[in-house]
Amino acid sequence: MARDYYDILGVSRDADPEELKRAYRRLARKYHPDVNKEAGAEEQFKEINKAYEALSDAEMRMRYDRFGEAGVSGSGAAGGPADFGDFGGFADIFETFFGGGFSGAGQGGRRRSGPTRGEDLRFDLKLKFREAVFGGEKQIRISHLESCKTCSGSGAKPGTGAQTCGTCQGTGQVRRMTRTPLGNFTQVSVCPTCGGQGQIIAEKCESCGGRGQNQVTKKLKITIPGGVDTGTRLRVGDAGDAGQRGGPPGDLYVYLFVEEDSEFKRDGTDVLSVFTISYLQAILGAELPIKTVDGEVLLTIPPGTQPGTVLTLENHGVPRLGNPVSRGDHLVTIVIDIPSRVSAEERELLVQLAGIRAEQTGKGTIEGFLGGIFGR
Ligand SMILES: [Zn+2]
Ligand SMILES: [Zn+2]
Repeated sequence: MARDYYDILGVSRDADPEELKRAYRRLARKYHPDVNKEAGAEEQFKEINKAYEALSDAEMRMRYDRFGEAGVSGSGAAGGPADFGDFGGFADIFETFFGGGFSGAGQGGRRRSGPTRGEDLRFDLKLKFREAVFGGEKQIRISHLESCKTCSGSGAKPGTGAQTCGTCQGTGQVRRMTRTPLGNFTQVSVCPTCGGQGQIIAEKCESCGGRGQNQVTKKLKITIPGGVDTGTRLRVGDAGDAGQRGGPPGDLYVYLFVEEDSEFKRDGTDVLSVFTISYLQAILGAELPIKTVDGEVLLTIPPGTQPGTVLTLENHGVPRLGNPVSRGDHLVTIVIDIPSRVSAEERELLVQLAGIRAEQTGKGTIEGFLGGIFGR
């Protein structure tokens, strides 16, 4: 049973990055194998590092909080990315991105000589209302770095190889000794000749100019699951930039934005619309076809329906993300159209009706009834 990362670092679950860093530094100093020769110290040191590596990265931390160790074990150099449920193919739902940090882009600048995982990429995708409700397939075009096919990513011209860097003898580091009155200090820095890679390419590959990678525009088919909304993020594994020096590729994150619809609005899994009926339909009741995301459906308007009444068409809402069998409802707000003008014939009938109404309510005369209304 793996230990909880927060327990390992001895911090609470809502510890801020500064607290995490402080806890990590304290523990790393205590358990560093150079310092601590006790049995189990090295194991402890590794655990501390693993925990900090996951929690110090905002995105990984979010994943850890949600999915536990399974959510972060795939990241980094070891193994492929973890899966969070497969929704019929390509893209899987990752999480909603509001409030969460996207740490993929812009974290460059770290120079490492070992295999480096490719950058994660972001793609913003607009969806129509109905596409978000029912899902579907979308073609997108992305531009990402691919490993050069000519040189298989080595950067060297085919037939030639990389040579060991003469400056650092392949270690990627140079040491400089400084003598001071307090003693000799050795300073280690990245080899300036090979940039820390330990190798230099004598003859560069012509296809990629020695970078080992090319910027390529690629078409991708994305399967959008039903029930997504603005704020849903899909992950397409390995579709980010290619890794360097044999590192795994990054992922592509597709951020979804749903367009407004002229007829429907959405509230979570419920669809909302407004429907206008006549005052007679409101009084007498009716059964009327009404537009839903599934097409026309008969809506029963009970006699005596009041303005602003909300009627429910069950199961005509949005499928629940990840569980499409379960659907929300369609909520119809009733607006009653009171005519501003009536024909002479209609008026005559209405006056008659008012007479009957007046008798029923015991007000005596039509005038009295009308007066009763206006006098209120
Ligand atoms: Zn190449
Ligand atoms: Zn070198």
